[in-house]
Amino acid sequence: MPPELQAFISIGSNIAPTQNIICSLEMLQTMPQTRLKRRSSWYRTRPWGIENQAEFINLVVEVETALDPETLLEHTQTIEQRLNRHRTVRNGPRTIDLDLLLHGDRVLTLPHLTLPHPGLHQRDFMLIPLLEIAPEAHHPTLGPLQALRDAVSYRQIIERIPQPETDGLAEPA
Ligand code: AMP
Repeated sequence: MPPELQAFISIGSNIAPTQNIICSLEMLQTMPQTRLKRRSSWYRTRPWGIENQAEFINLVVEVETALDPETLLEHTQTIEQRLNRHRTVRNGPRTIDLDLLLHGDRVLTLPHLTLPHPGLHQRDFMLIPLLEIAPEAHHPTLGPLQALRDAVSYRQIIERIPQPETDGLAEPA
C-alpha cells in the first residue's frame, strides 16, 4: 500500500445541514484506504457568493489516506452525488459541499482539481477550522498557515456552534 498522507477536507451545507453533515461524516469514514483522524468544531457562516440564501454550517476534517488526490476527489464527489447535491446555481444552496484543501504537500493544477484549494488561505471558513485541528499545518507554497490567518480576504464565520455528539468523532483536543 502507498504511504499514508495527511489530507484536509472542508465540509459545508446549507440545506438540512445537521443531517447532511452527519451523513457526509459517516460516508467519509467508509472511503477505502482512508481514516478520519480529527474534525473541527462546527461553524455557522454567512453564504459566500450569493448572499440571499440560508446560512451555512462549515467544518474541516483531517484524514490519513493512501489514496492519490484524484481518487480521493472521486470519492468525495460520489458522496456529494449520493447526498443529492444539485448544481443548479454556482455558489447557491447545497446539501453538501466537499472540497479538498490539502493533500500532503502536493501542488496540482488540473482542469478538475487544484491543490492546495485556492480558497484555503482566502476564506476564513476553510482556514480557521483547519488551524483549529492542525495549528502546525503548512501550505506547500505559502508556508505556515498560522501566519496567513489575519490576512484572509473573505470573513464569513458568524460563530462556532455546539455540534451534535452523534457524528462519531472526538472533539478537538
Ligand atoms: P464547487 O462548486 O466549489 O463544489 O466546485 C466543484 C468543482 O471544483 C468540481 O468540478 C471539481 O472538480 C473542482 N475542483 C477543483 N479543485 C478542487 C478541490 N481542491 N476540491 C474540490 N473540488 C475541486
